[in-house]
Amino acid sequence: MNTPTPSHHKVRTSHLQRDAYLYVRQSSMRQVLENTESTKRQYQLRERALSLGWISEQIRVVDCDQGCSGATDAGRDGFQQLVAEVSLGNAGIVMGLEVSRLARNNADWHRLLQLCAFTDTLILDQDGLYDPSAFNDRLLLGLKGAMSEAELHVLKSRLQQGILNKARRGELKIPLPVGLLYDELDRVVLSADSQVRETLKKFFVTFRRLRSASAVVKEFRRENIQAPHYSRTGPKSSRVIWGDLTHSQALRILHNPRYAGAFAYGRMRTRRGPDGTVRYHKQSQEEWTCLIQDVHEGYISWDEYQTNQRILTGNAEAFSSDRRPPPREGPALLQGIILCGRCGKRMTVRYHQYGGQLAPQYICQRDKIENGHSRDCQLVPGSSIDQAIGNMLVDMVNSQNIDVAIAVQRELRTRLDEADRLRYSQVERCRYEVDLARRRYVKVDPDKRYVAEVLEAEWNEKLRALDEAQSTYEAARESDIAVLSQKHTAALKALANDFSAIWQDDSLPNRDRKRIVRQLIEDVTILKDTKLTCHIRFKGGTCTTLNLPLPRSAWEQRRTPPEAVKAIDELLDDHPEYKVPHILTERGMKSGTGQTFSLKHVTRIRIAYRLPNRRTRLRHLGKVSARELSDRLGVSCRKIRRCRELGLLTAHEFKEGNYLYDDPGPGVVDRIPELKKNVHLTALHTTQEVQYAT
Ligand SMILES: [Zn+2]
Repeated sequence: MNTPTPSHHKVRTSHLQRDAYLYVRQSSMRQVLENTESTKRQYQLRERALSLGWISEQIRVVDCDQGCSGATDAGRDGFQQLVAEVSLGNAGIVMGLEVSRLARNNADWHRLLQLCAFTDTLILDQDGLYDPSAFNDRLLLGLKGAMSEAELHVLKSRLQQGILNKARRGELKIPLPVGLLYDELDRVVLSADSQVRETLKKFFVTFRRLRSASAVVKEFRRENIQAPHYSRTGPKSSRVIWGDLTHSQALRILHNPRYAGAFAYGRMRTRRGPDGTVRYHKQSQEEWTCLIQDVHEGYISWDEYQTNQRILTGNAEAFSSDRRPPPREGPALLQGIILCGRCGKRMTVRYHQYGGQLAPQYICQRDKIENGHSRDCQLVPGSSIDQAIGNMLVDMVNSQNIDVAIAVQRELRTRLDEADRLRYSQVERCRYEVDLARRRYVKVDPDKRYVAEVLEAEWNEKLRALDEAQSTYEAARESDIAVLSQKHTAALKALANDFSAIWQDDSLPNRDRKRIVRQLIEDVTILKDTKLTCHIRFKGGTCTTLNLPLPRSAWEQRRTPPEAVKAIDELLDDHPEYKVPHILTERGMKSGTGQTFSLKHVTRIRIAYRLPNRRTRLRHLGKVSARELSDRLGVSCRKIRRCRELGLLTAHEFKEGNYLYDDPGPGVVDRIPELKKNVHLTALHTTQEVQYAT
């Protein structure tokens, strides 16, 4: 390539050997279409390059960023291409109109400058030619970059300030959601389309009833009701489109304060991510730039809007990782607000039938589910806890406690009165000063105008101060009065009586009972070891601890009372087993399941508690059987039995009709002659005798 001779002292042969890059850009498509003049000027730089010695084949135009904003280099492939070429040392010169605007972000600009300095690349704009490796030029270019960024900032903030001012007055015209329109005078009115209006009204009524956005969506789908929305893109962006209601659409409607007739601005904030993409961040209501209520007609009241927000927040908690599910139908009072005292996770509820009723059990099984552990972390029977919490609430919301609360309020009241007096003295002082200033002004000679003017200004100043003090005083007084009124006191007192009545009413649905609990209690933490410890955290922040005995398990509840077991043991010493149930019943004792004792019960209990049976007890006492006696005495078993029947031998019944005998000792045959006597009882010689002997 033959190298042309440089025509400028900054342009050297080494520059001309490399290419010239012309960067052409308009920030928006509108500028591309309308501001053709600037584009023309950008292309004129090409002529400058030719005059400086580059040949037309060397001039490369980078214009793929037309229509991209320059606030960052993300998404601007052209700028990135330019940077790449510069760093590779392919560029001899970079050209652009107001070249500092190449990069509207100062960091980008300085990076480009530095690269140009390293690679000995020149920069050209309509003001002149710069060599970034020379200190003076670099300083100048740096300044230009800073100025350019400042200019952008000023422009932006001026625009934004204008928008904000308008918004604060509620006059900013922003796109309205479907169902609301601007009329000819730019006032917001309900849509004239009755179908749109009726559908939105039905939407809010349905939400009031079902209290869940997804339930409303389901109901709309089930009833085949179409919902209106705008397509926000495309040429027909303000035309109403009808379609199935979606969950996100339902949430948008519920969260939009305009449906409650309020003007709000700054509900979302945009922030640029590290990759240059814009992200939207939802702001909480307190963070909104402005909120003006009752600006125009709406579909719901502001109070209803606020209620809806609370419901939605409550519902959303059900989907968080530490979820607090909404109250359900089951009787477990603490469902959703009970925490495990061992691992801190939320406990779940399980029900089982007991005595025809649902008995709750609170279980901590999160660890078991997530980590595959074989045991539940904690399992606590719920009935006794629920009972204790219910009693505690009824105790707490009684007239006595409310009296205390009212007394505290009264105490506050007197303190407020003191503060009020202090504030009022401030007003008095201001009034006195005004008076003083007025008198001084009146006394002055009107001809002494310069004095009169000063005094008048002073008087005005004092008047302003008085005004301010007065309004401060009134505002403070108003807020004091709001603290407690007679009406509140009466309502609070009535509540105490109502509360226990409502609580004890069996027809109160479980769901409502749980809602009451959640109004008062934030959560309950349970720890089970030798006793049950319940830490209760109230909404107000106070905490209480309840210590409960460990609830008995199902088998414990059915176990035979220990005193019954003891009685059976004692009774078996003196009575045959078949008589024991009768005696127990006479004493009014019942089995573990509440039944009267039967022989079967007694036998089962004797075996279960390993109590010796009556025969063993008698044997232990040295009683002997009829057979043993017959062997020893050399008389028949029948004769022995006969003697027992005649009361001549002492015997003890151990089973119905079965006896063991006292050892009669030696010489008994001599003492009881009947044993010798020949009794004619052969007919009675039956198998019975054998039985006795065993
Ligand atoms: Zn646990």
